[in-house]
Amino acid sequence: MSLDEKAWQAVAARIAEAARRAERAPGSVRLLAVSKGQPAAAVRGAHAAGQRAFGENYVQEAVAKADELVDLPGLEWHLIGPLQSNKARTAAERFSWVQSVDRAKVAQRLSGARDAGHPPLNVCVQVNISAERGKSGAAPEETLALVRSVASLPGLKLRGLMGIAEETDDVDRQRRQFRILRELFDAARGQGLALDTLSMGMSADLESAIAEGATMVRVGTALFGPRRK
Ligand SMILES: *Cc1c(COP(=O)(O)O)cnc(C)c1O
Repeated sequence: MSLDEKAWQAVAARIAEAARRAERAPGSVRLLAVSKGQPAAAVRGAHAAGQRAFGENYVQEAVAKADELVDLPGLEWHLIGPLQSNKARTAAERFSWVQSVDRAKVAQRLSGARDAGHPPLNVCVQVNISAERGKSGAAPEETLALVRSVASLPGLKLRGLMGIAEETDDVDRQRRQFRILRELFDAARGQGLALDTLSMGMSADLESAIAEGATMVRVGTALFGPRRK
């Protein structure tokens, strides 16, 4: 099976060390393995090692992969890439989580498309914490209103917030951006919304994210190596 055990152990050690430094429980950070650009065999190898939650950016790629892996029990697919409203139905049917909800229209489509026979779709509101032009995500100042409207939709279960920091080696800059998401998370909870997931941190910046309170890190290349294009 195509699993680089050393790479997986190294990521687990980075998460544990970052949690220790932040004086947080080692089990308080969940790992989402980002399998976009990786073959189904890579997911199969990770599943054999006990990983269940996988992140994908593209609906079609994820569906094709999931179809190849229907024999694997307990897989949990998370959509983390931008979602066009014309893909909302497929996304609502095929994913357990959509972390990239950044406007009310997509949330309404997902809710309407989620089959009543399924539990509500877990969602995160994506926030543009780096304020870079062209990046997806709701603006921080629009986030609480969007969070409240998502929380009221019957087909969705609002779990939390997701954000992507700017690509930079400047740790203070990373932390400042993650802190924006953390403060919005605290504000939403302060309004009585039952959010439990703060999804932030990737291969290059997971330490900063965990220091700022991430409960889920989304890691691709550090686990699986470079992606295929
Ligand atoms: C690709 C991607 C990741 C994983 O990035 P790596 O740098 O490979 O760890 C995490 N989150 C999102 C939203 C992504 O698009």
